[in-house]
Amino acid sequence: MVLYAYIDRERTKKFYAKEALKEDKKKRYYCPSPTCDAHMYLCSVDGVSSAYFSATRKQHSHRQGCGFEASNNFKPQNFDEASFDFENVLEAMRKLNKSTVKNKKSILHKNGEAHSKPLRTTRQIYEMCKSYPCSHKYNNLSIGKMLLDDRSEYMYPKGVFGNRIIESKVKRGIFYDSTKMELRLVAPSSKKYELILQFADKSLFLDIKNSLYKNRDKLIILSGLWESSATFNSFCTKIVNKSQIVVLNKLK
Ligand SMILES: [Zn+2]
Repeated sequence: MVLYAYIDRERTKKFYAKEALKEDKKKRYYCPSPTCDAHMYLCSVDGVSSAYFSATRKQHSHRQGCGFEASNNFKPQNFDEASFDFENVLEAMRKLNKSTVKNKKSILHKNGEAHSKPLRTTRQIYEMCKSYPCSHKYNNLSIGKMLLDDRSEYMYPKGVFGNRIIESKVKRGIFYDSTKMELRLVAPSSKKYELILQFADKSLFLDIKNSLYKNRDKLIILSGLWESSATFNSFCTKIVNKSQIVVLNKLK
């Protein structure tokens, strides 16, 4: 759920859905992406506490490739924010044996109610990050320090280092090097940075390569431990798990 939008075209006045009143439902709000002219409206499932924004009118939907176009299922009440550890989750994703993460059963309350669990997957974290402004903090870490996208680009003047999720697209032209087992993408929309995915496993490389080829025009969400490559403005990460890559609105 996108939990904020802007009141004005210039995107100077942020507005949170949870602060809305009933009468705000008829108003048009602006998509968080400054380059998108979608008309956003307040929606709510059951009252103000679960209100969110959505481009509900077909003739005023998001521009193609807008980072807020994909359906977003994040509901804050379903996840335990206080036990979310961004660094740990991204590290766990890069372990070949994921059983320790997967088998974590929800802890039951004394009254039998299940505790909500922290965010665990690339998609879950990405959707959470898209729900809030990039200056918003989720368990004390700002969204912009978890996700590099158009909104947070200004926070990365020298590049992207460490554990990060990145909203990217496949690089135009030949984006793969089968000998080196590398794939190339670019991020964010400005294409300022080149991203190199490095593989040790041939079948994983081929699998991801084919999927990206079919989804060249889609947004690709990458989670990795980024470091600078030999080239200026080019950064690389190792891919050991499929779960590090999510294609939005994927074509099979
Ligand atoms: Zn949009």
